[in-house]
Amino acid sequence: MKIKFWGVRGSLPTPPTAEHIRDKFIRIIDTLPPAILAKPDEIKKYILGLSNIEAGLIGGNTPCIEIRASDKILIFDMGSGIKALGNYLVKNEPNKNGLDLHIFITHTHWDHIHGFPFFTPAFFPNNKLTFYSPHPNLKERLEVQQDFRFFPVSLEHMPAKKEFVLLEHNSTINLGEVKISNHPLYHPGGSFSYRIEWNGKSIVYATDSEYKNLDRESTKQYIDFFRGADLLIFDAQYTFEEAIHKEDWGHSSALVGVEFAVEAGVKRLALFHHEPERNDFEIQDILKKSIDFKKINFPKQKLDIFLAMEGLEIYL
Ligand SMILES: [Zn+2]
Ligand SMILES: [Zn+2]
Repeated sequence: MKIKFWGVRGSLPTPPTAEHIRDKFIRIIDTLPPAILAKPDEIKKYILGLSNIEAGLIGGNTPCIEIRASDKILIFDMGSGIKALGNYLVKNEPNKNGLDLHIFITHTHWDHIHGFPFFTPAFFPNNKLTFYSPHPNLKERLEVQQDFRFFPVSLEHMPAKKEFVLLEHNSTINLGEVKISNHPLYHPGGSFSYRIEWNGKSIVYATDSEYKNLDRESTKQYIDFFRGADLLIFDAQYTFEEAIHKEDWGHSSALVGVEFAVEAGVKRLALFHHEPERNDFEIQDILKKSIDFKKINFPKQKLDIFLAMEGLEIYL
């Protein structure tokens, strides 16, 4: 299976500020080894060797994830990240004149659907888009988003073939050899996590979720759904302290993600749905604290923790 993150930011698209970019330059200059300062080629080599967090950007687009499994193209959520995915598909996909895309929606808060009006594959009649969601009336919700008062092109005027599949709560469907299950999450208006399984590998996408009670009985349903996943993508919008203060805002923290991942025997944990108020260094700090938390509390468990970043690809 292959996964690519096209949007990782929660709530609102968040372009980098000039201040943030300047900050990056200053930090890079500060870390330059004095021995290479007079050697431009060495400086270039040093900058090229920096990580994406140090010299690149974690990403400001709202949630969109592409998963390739078997011969299927699956898309999870339609945040602003879906625009670049759409442009990539119509340019580069071998059967770009007859795309068959399966789009799963966690819920219809703006940050998970507002990229769709800019999704180029929807403007070609030979493409087929199948939407899946346990939320009723998904079609109507998308129509409302593209009502003339809010957007000039209606859903009806996007000529790709569109089909809407209403999923039962906690059900599993098969697309060829690929198995996709859903499980409800606690979030204003309701959100759903998805578990994708193919060829002995599994990914769980669990975003926009608050875990109010952390006792064993309350968390069991989630641990069972995450059990043994090769990759868990987890809502880490808040710090642990923020999560306590922002009760009922519907989001979780990285530390809860670490506890759940360890308990469920997950192999890799991607911190996702980054808070729009935070810059890359602050998000990186959350990652560092999560890794320390894991080392101190679960020293013997194997768990790879990393940040979901725009453009990141993972092969499982
Ligand atoms: Zn969200
Ligand atoms: Zn939400």
